[in-house]
Amino acid sequence: MYNSIIMKQFSLLIKPASSDCNSNCIYCFYRGLPLYKGRPTRMSFDVLSVLIKKYLATSQMQYIFSWQGGEPLLMGLDFYKGVINLQKNFAKPNSIIGNGIQTNGYLIDDETAEFFSQASFLVGISIDGPEELHNKFRIILDGSNAFNKVLSSIKILQKHNVEFNTLTVVTSAHSGKAKDVYRFLKDTGSYYHQYIPCVEYNKNGEKMPWTIEARQWGRFLCDVFEMWLGEQTKTSIRLFDSIINVLLGRQPGICQMEKNCCQYFVVEHNGDIFPCDFFVRDYTFLGNIMNDDWQIFLDSAKYKNFGAQKTMWHSDCNRCEYLKFCAGDCQKYRLPNHKYIRGKSVLCEGWKMFYKECLGEFKKIIKKQQVFFNQG
Ligand code: SF4
Ligand code: SF4
Repeated sequence: MYNSIIMKQFSLLIKPASSDCNSNCIYCFYRGLPLYKGRPTRMSFDVLSVLIKKYLATSQMQYIFSWQGGEPLLMGLDFYKGVINLQKNFAKPNSIIGNGIQTNGYLIDDETAEFFSQASFLVGISIDGPEELHNKFRIILDGSNAFNKVLSSIKILQKHNVEFNTLTVVTSAHSGKAKDVYRFLKDTGSYYHQYIPCVEYNKNGEKMPWTIEARQWGRFLCDVFEMWLGEQTKTSIRLFDSIINVLLGRQPGICQMEKNCCQYFVVEHNGDIFPCDFFVRDYTFLGNIMNDDWQIFLDSAKYKNFGAQKTMWHSDCNRCEYLKFCAGDCQKYRLPNHKYIRGKSVLCEGWKMFYKECLGEFKKIIKKQQVFFNQG
C-alpha cells in the first residue's frame, strides 16, 4: 500500500516525549514548547507503528531515525525495544536502518546501555564541558548535580562498549575556554564532538545572557581548530568534517551548510510533522503522519517555501568569500528572527574570523591527503 517511490532522501528527527524533560536547562530552545502545553506528550504505539511503517515504505539509501527531545529516554526502554521490533517487521529486504538518540544520559543504566550496544544505537550525550561549565545552565530541579550524572552515564556506556558522541552547547560562559572544553571531552573519552552555538533571544528581540557573541564564537572555533590541528589521530568534529566534505565537492552533512532547509522532518509525539526542530510552530505545521503520507509533506508548498528561505540570505552574503561554506548560516541565527525578513546571521563576524584563520589549513590538509592517495 505504501510502495510509492520517493527519490528525495530525508531523515527523521523524532520527539517521542515532545519537550518533556527530566532536566531544566535554562538555555533549551525546546523547553515548554507552547504548541502542546498542558497536554500529555507521549508517543502512542499506534503513532509509532504508522510512522515506522510509512517511512520504511519509502525508498531511501538509508533510513535514519534520530530520537530526540526534550528527553527521549523518558519513554522507557520498552518503547525502544518496540522500535526495533517494528523496524524489523516493516523493513524491506536489505534496508539499511540507523537509530541515533540524543540524551542527557541521566536515565542510562546497565540494561539501557546493553540494549544500545546490541541494537547498534548511536548515542549522543549532551555535555557542555567541565563541571563548572556543564552545571552553569543545565539545572536539575531536584537539586542533583547534572555533571556527576552525565559522567556516570558515560562510564556505564563505556562499560558496555557503546560508542558515543558528545554535543556541547557553546554559551557566553564558554568564551575563552575552548581549549579546556576540548581537552576535557577528549579526557572523558569522546572522539566525536559537535559544538552548537547558543543563540537565544526573548520575544522582545533582546539577547539572553547565555547567548554567545559572534566574536566569542569565532574565537572558540579557532581555538578548537588549533587543538585539533595539533593531533596525530584526529578527533571527528562535525563542523570540520563538513568543511572537508565541501572542499572535496561532497554534501556537507550538516543542514546549516546546505542551500536548502528541506533536509529532514521533525515528528512530534502525536505524529505532527514540521520541517525543522528550531521551527516547531503553528505556521510551519505540515500535517500529521496518521492522516497523510511523506509525499504530501515533500510536495507541500509550505515545506518547499521553508526550505527555499535558506538562500534568502542577507545581500552581504552574495559577496562573501565564505558563502560556499556558511550558506548564509542557519535561519535561526538570522536576526531579526522573523519568517519574512532577510536578516544576517548574528554569528557572521565569528564565522568570518574562523574561516579567515583556518580555511587555508583545511585546504592544506586536503592537498596532503590527495598527494598521499595519489602516491598510494
Ligand atoms: S533552519 Fe537551521 S537547523 Fe533548521 S533546517 Fe535550516 S539550517 Fe537546519
Ligand atoms: S559569513 Fe556572514 S556574510 Fe558570509 S555567508 Fe556567512 S552570514 Fe553571510
